[in-house]
Amino acid sequence: MGLTVKHVSEYRDGELVRDVMAQISRTVTRPWVIMEICGGQTHAILRYGLDQLLPAHIELVHGPGCPVCVTSLEMVDKAMAIAAQPGVIFTSYGDMLRVPGSKSDLFSVRANGGDVRVVYSPLDALKIAEQNPDRQVVFFAIGFETTAPANAMSVLQARSMGLTNFSVLVSQVRVPPAMHAILSSPANRVQGFLAAGHVCAVMGYWEYPLIAQVYGVPIVVTGFEPLDIAQGILATVQRLEAGRIEAANAYHRMVTFEGNRPAQSVIDRVFIECDQKWRGIGVIPASGWRLRPEFEPFDAELRYPVASFQIDESPVCIAGQILQGLKKPPDCPAFSKMCTPENPLGATMVSSEGACAAYHRYARDPGGDGV
Ligand code: SF4
Repeated sequence: MGLTVKHVSEYRDGELVRDVMAQISRTVTRPWVIMEICGGQTHAILRYGLDQLLPAHIELVHGPGCPVCVTSLEMVDKAMAIAAQPGVIFTSYGDMLRVPGSKSDLFSVRANGGDVRVVYSPLDALKIAEQNPDRQVVFFAIGFETTAPANAMSVLQARSMGLTNFSVLVSQVRVPPAMHAILSSPANRVQGFLAAGHVCAVMGYWEYPLIAQVYGVPIVVTGFEPLDIAQGILATVQRLEAGRIEAANAYHRMVTFEGNRPAQSVIDRVFIECDQKWRGIGVIPASGWRLRPEFEPFDAELRYPVASFQIDESPVCIAGQILQGLKKPPDCPAFSKMCTPENPLGATMVSSEGACAAYHRYARDPGGDGV
C-alpha cells in the first residue's frame, strides 16, 4: 500500500491512520458490511475509535474470534466438574475463570475449596505436574489455531517426560470452518472479511482463496494495531469496489501464505479434526481439534468421565447472533443493564476480547485512546 513503518508507535500514529481513512472515503461508493474475525481486532477498533473514523457506508460487524466467548457452556461445566474433584489441580488461562457456566464459574469452584490455578502457558501447568507427582494436573486447553501449537507441545512433552499426572481438557476451535458457517447462513450479511493476523501467522492463508471464490467475498489478512486495521479495511474496500474477489495479505511483517510449517506439523502430530460446539452458535462441522487416539492417556475428558449436561443459555443473551455479525451488542436488551462485566450473562461480556465487553468499556468513553 506504499506505506512502510518500522516501530509500533508508527502503527498507532493518528496522522497515518487518518490518511488511510481518507483513502477509504475516496474509494467507497456504496454500503459494505465487513467482519473483523478476531476479538483482539474488535477491541482495537473500539479502543481507538476506528469505527467512528470510517465513512458511513462501511459497517463493521464483529466475528467469533474470541476463544473465551465461543467455548461451549457444556465445556465450561465439564471444567468445573473436573476442577471440583478431590486431588485435582485445575489450571487455566485467567479469563476462563470468570466465564459463567450454566450455574456458576471456576472462581466459585475455587471459593468452595477446589484447587484452581491461573497459568500463562500450558508449560506452566506441566511444571506444576512435575512438582506435584501425587496430584493430578489438568490444563484447560482452549483457543484458536494460535494456542494449538503450545497446547500440542505440552502433550508431547508430558509424554516424553513420562508424566502420568498431566492431562488436557481440549476445546480447540478453527477459524476457516466458522467462516464457512457464517457465509453459508441464509441470514449472512458479511461481504468482506478481515482475517485474524495471528491465526494466519500460524496457519498461513492458503485456505482462504477457495473460501473467497466459493462465497464471493474478499478476505484480507489484517493485523491488530490501528494502522494495520485501517490498511486491512482499505484493502478490503478496494477489492469490494473493484469486484476483485480474492484473498490478500495486509500483514506482511507477520504472515506468509503457507504459515508456520513446524507449528502446523506439531498440531498435526497431536490433534485431529472434529466437529465442535461453539457457544451461542451451535455445532460447526470439522471446526475443532481433539487429541489423536495415541494421546488418549492425556485426555481429561476420558480420565474424568463426567455426566453429560443439559444446558440452557440465558434467554435474553444474543451473543450467538453477535458472533455471526447479525446483531451488535447495543441490540441486546440486557446490554450494560442486566449484563455488565461485573455481572455477565454471556461470554461476550466476560472476556476482554468479547464484543459486548468492548462496547461496554469504550462506548462510554469516546475520548478514550482515540487516534
Ligand atoms: S450484553 Fe450480555 S446478555 Fe447481551 S448479548 Fe452481550 S453477553 Fe449476552
